[in-house]
Amino acid sequence: MKRPRLPRTPRLSRDAKQLLRLAIALSVSASRVEDRFWAHQLDAQIDSVLDKGQEDTLESALDQLWTANPPAYDALAQAIETRSSGLLSADGQDILLIAVPVQAWSRYSIAAGAIAPARLMELRTQLHGHVLAAGARLALADVLFSPDQLPRGFAATRTFARGLADAAGQEQDMHVDPASLAQVIPFVADVRYVVGAVMVAPGTAVFRWQEAQHSREQVMRDWQAYGGAVLQTMLPACIIEALLPNAYFNAWRESDLAGRGWGLRATMDYLNAVLALPAASLCAVIAPFHDHVLEEYRVGFTRVGSNDVLHGVVWPLIGNEDENTEVTSEIETIVRAAGIGEVLMLSERMPLEYCDDCGAPLFPNPEGELVHAQIPESAEPAPHLH
Ligand SMILES: [Zn+2]
Repeated sequence: MKRPRLPRTPRLSRDAKQLLRLAIALSVSASRVEDRFWAHQLDAQIDSVLDKGQEDTLESALDQLWTANPPAYDALAQAIETRSSGLLSADGQDILLIAVPVQAWSRYSIAAGAIAPARLMELRTQLHGHVLAAGARLALADVLFSPDQLPRGFAATRTFARGLADAAGQEQDMHVDPASLAQVIPFVADVRYVVGAVMVAPGTAVFRWQEAQHSREQVMRDWQAYGGAVLQTMLPACIIEALLPNAYFNAWRESDLAGRGWGLRATMDYLNAVLALPAASLCAVIAPFHDHVLEEYRVGFTRVGSNDVLHGVVWPLIGNEDENTEVTSEIETIVRAAGIGEVLMLSERMPLEYCDDCGAPLFPNPEGELVHAQIPESAEPAPHLH
């Protein structure tokens, strides 16, 4: 679940109040038996709101609980994710929406869009061979999604899952028109997703690691080797890392988390590739950025001894992270492991400022000024980094 950006003044609908009541009741229930009672009612209420397409009702209930009642927030968030990404087929089969994330960086562009039929077939073979449980049926959408192209909101996610569920019953894939999707925003480092639905008999395993003879670690290794080889052919001129295919929202969250370190490492590799600047000649300037609360860290990369920011990386806070997070030491560990020449940790609060012209975030330089990241004119023009 993403952090809500700004707490809004609550003006809750009847449906939203009902969601709050049930989520709070579920969060204080003391037994599995009572859990089931509340969960059943909460699911029905969420289904009704999703069917009406009332995304705002779900969001307002989540916003209300975010600071006021974290355990109830978790209960509600989990239930909403479950109802929008898990379905029951007409003949009683369990259907789970899955995502297959892959991190990539490139000095050129990172591919997205239509997946060639032969590639889709190979992905399907590798998913069945290394990730999915025996007997699972699968449908894949025939598009490699950039993050902005994924279904927006829970109701849209559920509609998307419905389409895939129909295809999964026949072990077929689902066509998505790439022209119907948002335009890809070019970044040097980013993530791509293949999205699918898995259909299994109720109570049976979805993933291979649920079967006694397989471990999650083994599944991960096999997927990175065999699935990774297919994904690499879909992402030419990219350095990639395949992440574990999993339940849709979980895979999304995990790729958000992993993407932060990936973005930092990719920036250093990128500056070396484009400007022939090894990490040892770079300085990383780390600073906290606040709106009302701490929202993110931004890391500006300069040459050692220079105030010109060549590139920058945004490190957003995710989930429960707040002022007490140890994120800065995590950032420092990553850049030091890459052999960075210098690290500067700024403690003053910076405002969340963006370029008026292109909307790119501004990054801190060693003087503590917020500046536009820019590759020198002599080098090729490059898109902004995450
Ligand atoms: Zn700009």
